[in-house]
Amino acid sequence: MNASTHEEKAMAKSKKARRLDELAEQIRVCTRCPLHESRTHAVPGDGKYAARVMIIGEAPGKDEDETGKPFVGSAGRYLDHVLEGTGLDRGDFFITNTVKCRPPKNRTPKAIETGTCESNYLFEQMELIDPELVMLLGGVAAKTVLGVKSVNEARGRVVEREGRRFIVGYHPAVRFYREDLGEKVKEDFALLKRELKKL
Ligand code: URA
Repeated sequence: MNASTHEEKAMAKSKKARRLDELAEQIRVCTRCPLHESRTHAVPGDGKYAARVMIIGEAPGKDEDETGKPFVGSAGRYLDHVLEGTGLDRGDFFITNTVKCRPPKNRTPKAIETGTCESNYLFEQMELIDPELVMLLGGVAAKTVLGVKSVNEARGRVVEREGRRFIVGYHPAVRFYREDLGEKVKEDFALLKRELKKL
C-alpha cells in the first residue's frame, strides 16, 4: 500500500470512529421513542469499532440500564461463557442491541421502537463498523434486521443479505426459562466459531 492510500484509509477510519462516537452521544440523549421516558441510561453498544464481527441482541435489561453497557447482567455472563469457546473474547466484537433503551419490565420492544431505533442508529452503526459477520441473538433481532418470522426460520446457517453475512441464534437468556434450548444456544455459538475460523 502506498503512503497516500494508507493515509486515506487511516483518515476514513478516524472519520468513521468520530461518527460512531457521535451516534453514541445522540443515543444517550435520544427522545425519539417512548422508551426514553423510563430508562436510566441508554446503551449505545460496546467494543471495537473495527470489529470483524458484530453481535446484536434484543434490548438492555436492568443491569444494562443501570450501567449503560450491553450484556453485563446474567445474559451477559452466559454470553461471555459461550464466547469462550470461540477463541475470541467480548472485546474483539462490537456488541449492541436492536433497541438502545430498556423496555419497561423487560417487555418485548414494540415495532415502533425497533423501527425508530434501527432506522436512526442500528443500521448506521452496522454500515460504519462494516463487519464481515453479524450474529443476531433472538427473535427480535432476527425479525428487525432480516425480517424473518422466527429464529428457527434462519438458524443453523449463514444468511446473506445485501452483501452482508448473518448468523441467527437463540438469545442466550432463553436458557433461563427454556432449559431445553441451552444445547441450541451452544450449537449457534459453535457455528459462529466455525465461521470465525474462515475469516
Ligand atoms: N439482553 C439483551 O438482549 N441485551 C442486553 O444488553 C442484555 C440482555
